[in-house]
Amino acid sequence: MRGTRRLLARQLQGYITRFAAFVLLFLPAARRSGAACAAAPQDGGSSPASLILCRACGHELAAGADIRFVPSRLALSSRNDTSIGGRRVHIQLFENPGGHQFEVITFKRADVTHHWPAEPHFSWFPGFSWTVATCPRCHTHLGWAFQPSKWPDTITKTKFEESDDTFLALITHRLLREDFASSLMTPKSFKS
Ligand SMILES: [Zn+2]
Repeated sequence: MRGTRRLLARQLQGYITRFAAFVLLFLPAARRSGAACAAAPQDGGSSPASLILCRACGHELAAGADIRFVPSRLALSSRNDTSIGGRRVHIQLFENPGGHQFEVITFKRADVTHHWPAEPHFSWFPGFSWTVATCPRCHTHLGWAFQPSKWPDTITKTKFEESDDTFLALITHRLLREDFASSLMTPKSFKS
């Protein structure tokens, strides 16, 4: 009985997460738009190997080497930045149907939770359908995953990850570079 209740609670949590992720897509992302700038590191160092973390919980999402620029003609603008990948990465600005703008970096792969079925409408990348992508640990909405529109709207994570035709667009200010995260840790001398 208790097991059933726990299962139900987990299912409910799943529904809430999915709903929240969907709602987030249409809500303002402007809250912390300056955060990415504040995280600007001083060097490019070991960038391809440096880790990209979820800013909310520190979960390891990808490595700098997983960043892959996928240009879109629907981007409102495009700029170079070094705060996330270390090396120069392309950041594109998009607007959703609700008028909310998101700066994103595109990745070949990232450890996110996908929320199939994929949606073919309102895609920022023509020819690709999207799903919301959330953090596997804290469920923060991190961005979107894209797969060819001609594919079935629901696929396996393995199929997504093994294909060269899939990619993700993650919201810049919800990411953190690992070497910046380490610099935030309290120095030992301050600990009693
Ligand atoms: Zn997280």
